[in-house]
Amino acid sequence: LRNSRHVSRRAFSTNFPVLQQATPATVKNYINGEFVESKTKKWIELRNPATQEVISLVPETTAEELKAATDSAEEAAKTWSKTSIVQRQRVMMDLQALIREHQDKIAENIVQEQGKTFVDAKGDVFRGLQVVEQACALTSNMMGHHMSVAKDMETYTYREPLGVVAGICPFNFPAMIPLWMFPLAIATGNTIVMKPSERDPGALMMLAELAAKAGVPNGVLNIVHGAVDCVNYICDEPRIKAISFVGSDVAGEHIYTRGNANGKRVQANLGAKNHAVILPDANKQATLNAVAGAAFGAAGQRCMALSTLVLVGEAKEWLPELVERAQQLKVGYGMDPEVDVGPVITTQAKDRVHRLVQSGVDQGANLLLDGRGVVVKGYEKGNFVGPTILSDVKTNMDCYKEEIFGPVLVCLNVDTLDEAIEMVNSNKYGNGTAVFTNSGPAARKFEHEIDVGQVGINVPIPVPIPPFSFTGSRGSILGDLNFYGKSGFDFYTKPKTVTSLWKESDASHSRASVAMPTIR
Ligand code: NAD
Repeated sequence: LRNSRHVSRRAFSTNFPVLQQATPATVKNYINGEFVESKTKKWIELRNPATQEVISLVPETTAEELKAATDSAEEAAKTWSKTSIVQRQRVMMDLQALIREHQDKIAENIVQEQGKTFVDAKGDVFRGLQVVEQACALTSNMMGHHMSVAKDMETYTYREPLGVVAGICPFNFPAMIPLWMFPLAIATGNTIVMKPSERDPGALMMLAELAAKAGVPNGVLNIVHGAVDCVNYICDEPRIKAISFVGSDVAGEHIYTRGNANGKRVQANLGAKNHAVILPDANKQATLNAVAGAAFGAAGQRCMALSTLVLVGEAKEWLPELVERAQQLKVGYGMDPEVDVGPVITTQAKDRVHRLVQSGVDQGANLLLDGRGVVVKGYEKGNFVGPTILSDVKTNMDCYKEEIFGPVLVCLNVDTLDEAIEMVNSNKYGNGTAVFTNSGPAARKFEHEIDVGQVGINVPIPVPIPPFSFTGSRGSILGDLNFYGKSGFDFYTKPKTVTSLWKESDASHSRASVAMPTIR
């Protein structure tokens, strides 16, 4: 074992030199412990969604650089997989301390690149930090099984790392989702090639710097950039054994199919359309606050956002008060402490939101609140959409069928809880849902009859803390091992089962037996 390193607070401090450059800065590849400028000729402009200012240029990492990242991960795996489990645990402990210390700086970067509010960006980092804390519980989570099965014979199972793995991330949680991936992957003894979203790679670049300070050796964590070509390289490279993906259906289905065809283990979390079901016996004020926060927070760009409201019976009378609450939310630049709703990620995303709202109007829904015309003083070019509410929506309308991924709440009416459950279960997605009620039996019925992977009972965004796993289901997931929790440890490892016989030499058998060996 290496001696326990003493990490002083001074050693923890960093100014993130990787981000201290002229504007627009070029985002570097991170290969074998070095932040290196890409030799690519293809650069993707990264714009601040509140201003349209180009704040950095993201490379389309070249084929040679992608290979170099994999070479470095492959080489590092030879030694990293053999380091003691307590050493890897200690690195995770230092990483969690460093992230806690620098969470505000990471959150500021998220506001600039992704647009969400500072307080929400801090939540993004904190939710990821909790997975690192879970990675610190490596020693108990990696414990195997051992049984004495017969005289002199023992069988035991333990888990080994896969080797080189990869992570492909979406834009909406630039810290949390990379932190769902690389800490557990490397804590369990793998090395990893990460591809952040080309729209906001800054948080992961900062996390890589912290990981190096925490003692993650060169080559254990590598970062490459780009879009489809980079993703296809990851799907096809035989040395990469597993892929963690979070993002849209189109990309996820492609990665799952292509990765599987190449013999890889793939976990893919996809799109969502999360329904909130309100029963008329619910606590009205708390419920309306919860729904407004979960529908419009992060500008509706959370995979667990409550984007669909199902009002049971008299609960439909609450809509005017919900509109009032939505109107109170302030739209603007994420560093303004009074702002509740930041911009959506790109002008294309804004156009998609506008199109789907208009389709709802054209197909017969009522536009109770229209956030499409919102202009933020001083940020006139920003991709802002204000909270928008469509009522009398029907399940055949496009605004119901498609994931809008903006601050838009579509509202449907039903007469009974049974109808609400039927509606949720008929939707193709199964990421999250929430029921609001004061009735224990109704909540219990909902919990047991609903076919959705994550259920909130009077809880609007039931994303589980990391001792549990993130368990979206049906159209929201491909693959059967979930992110983080026990399942996360299992995804990044494979079991080995050994049966051993140690007995004193016995010369009584003079012939080989060809019968199937059995233990009786
Ligand atoms: P996206 O699919 O556009 O991008 C995700 C990643 O895939 C990026 O790294 C991108 O470069 C890559 N990519 C994009 N298109 C591709 C293609 N055609 N082929 C190969 N690779 C491609 O997703 P996004 O817009 O960044 O993220 C939003 C989506 O992610 C939403 O649908 C949201 O519901 C989903 N999401 C799901 C979860 C979950 O846990 N279920 C969590 C967060 C986000």
